[in-house]
Amino acid sequence: MTVYDNLTEGHRSAVDKRSAFVHGDLSDDARLAQALQEAKAETVLHFAANALVSESMANPGKYFRNNVASGLRLLEAAVAARVNKFVFSSTCAVYGVPDRVPITEDLPLHPVNPYGESKLMFEKMLQWYQRIHGLEFVALRYFNAAGASERFGEHHRLETHLIPNVLKVALGQKPHCEIYGTDYPTSDGTCVRDYVHIVDLAQAHLLAMEPGKQGFYNLGNGEGYSVRQVIRTCEKVADKPVKVIERPRRDGDPPRLVASANKAMKELGWKPKYPKLEAIVESAWRWHHKHPNGYPD
Ligand code: UDP
Repeated sequence: MTVYDNLTEGHRSAVDKRSAFVHGDLSDDARLAQALQEAKAETVLHFAANALVSESMANPGKYFRNNVASGLRLLEAAVAARVNKFVFSSTCAVYGVPDRVPITEDLPLHPVNPYGESKLMFEKMLQWYQRIHGLEFVALRYFNAAGASERFGEHHRLETHLIPNVLKVALGQKPHCEIYGTDYPTSDGTCVRDYVHIVDLAQAHLLAMEPGKQGFYNLGNGEGYSVRQVIRTCEKVADKPVKVIERPRRDGDPPRLVASANKAMKELGWKPKYPKLEAIVESAWRWHHKHPNGYPD
């Protein structure tokens, strides 16, 4: 296994020691081609992307450049290197504001932010590359990735995600957390999301790599939790009160995103090991507690 990363978001010490590592950008055609060739790559797992809804609403160019234009260079390089399988990290943001939940893969795709649009554009390219170049693909539409394994957890240089931000308050690293919007049409007025454990996401990738598997799959647990419910769960797990400040809505956030992952379960044989929010938060809390400053680099 070779990991190729420009480390703008990732961390060198988060790369498994069993993997080779190449420090490179997807826009560096020569380096990418060489890395694929030296690895004798048969399968590409494409995780690299910018993935913040609010940033994409302020700076769409960054999203179309990195997620679409640089992604296209990876696709071209994969075809040139005769890769036969491509597994893509897609997102529930491709659905926009869905007509109904739980969301099935056949619902209309109308993203409401440039992040979701950039992922949808890449999904469409994959379909054409499969048809024209025979590149088999699986696009995994993650809902809200969360939690940690024993060794690997969530450490963004600029942390915007809900669970790590709430846990930072419990750890005493931040005075309070914020709720973005309390006037949504949901039971308590805050946004509802479907949180899925990173270990379960990883397992889905292994299943997607198996020969013959292809298409689009939602990955979530079919259960929605509001922002307030997430904060309460974090307080319970950490056994600490968390101070909350209510803020206006964040631009580009749909009110409610909950997956139906029946297709992934049936066709990929996916079975989440940690479907409950509390178990997901517990794993995150253990990791943050053990690594209060995240990865050392
Ligand atoms: N959110 C919040 N406060 C925060 C971070 C996030 O209220 O400090 C909300 C956000 O508006 C969204 C949900 O929590 O409705 C999950 O946000 P996150 O950024 O974790 O993931 P996203 O849904 O954007 O992928």
